[in-house]
Amino acid sequence: MYDKRQIKENIERIIKEINGRAALLAATKTVPPEIINFAADCGITLIGENRVQEYLSKREMINLDNVRAHLIGHLQTNKVSKIVGKVDMIESIDSVKVAKAVSDASLKRGIVTDVLVQVNIGREDTKHGVMAEELEQLLRAAACFKGIKIRGLMAIPPIYDTEREKRAVFSDMCKLFIDIKGKNIDNVAMDILSMGMSADYREAIMEGSTLVRIGSAIFGSRS
Ligand SMILES: *Cc1c(COP(=O)(O)O)cnc(C)c1O
Repeated sequence: MYDKRQIKENIERIIKEINGRAALLAATKTVPPEIINFAADCGITLIGENRVQEYLSKREMINLDNVRAHLIGHLQTNKVSKIVGKVDMIESIDSVKVAKAVSDASLKRGIVTDVLVQVNIGREDTKHGVMAEELEQLLRAAACFKGIKIRGLMAIPPIYDTEREKRAVFSDMCKLFIDIKGKNIDNVAMDILSMGMSADYREAIMEGSTLVRIGSAIFGSRS
């Protein structure tokens, strides 16, 4: 099912194409540990997992010596204590409540967890994330929590067909990012803008993404 030669070729091609303009995260949901380790051998240094349970069940078999891991899927408050300390960043903070829970769990472990705030830039009912107009309020509230460090924003925009539409939504996201950065909120760094997936990472990079999350263009389509 996984074609290692193809995966290696995909990784090498994408790394070359991105050419250092953005960091590359391999989205590894449903991908078994053996294939994740193979991807790491081919140059992947950062992976993203969606589900806490799935990641924890794979984690012991993943060679984490040269690979960092982010949580990129929705996080429920009741899963927070399980994941804090097990990933290098949580990209999917979407409420003050979950930010507080991550902070509390981090302080308990004596660590500070890097986080991104997820923005629902396409205003879709089906997607998680805060609305753009709620972002500043969430950031100001979460900035007080000592167990987290807010590093930037993450977005999963709607699926568009045209390059123009893709670029427009990423451009909106980047404007929001720059606007918030300009406010210099204490404890809010705004150095990471995580946007762009297999179908639209080129447009995302053109519009200012610093971190693309790519799954199927590396591993093939998920069954
Ligand atoms: C699955 C996933 C990706 C990667 O999606 P592809 O279209 O397979 O590249 C990126 N970000 C998130 C949050 C995901 O769940």
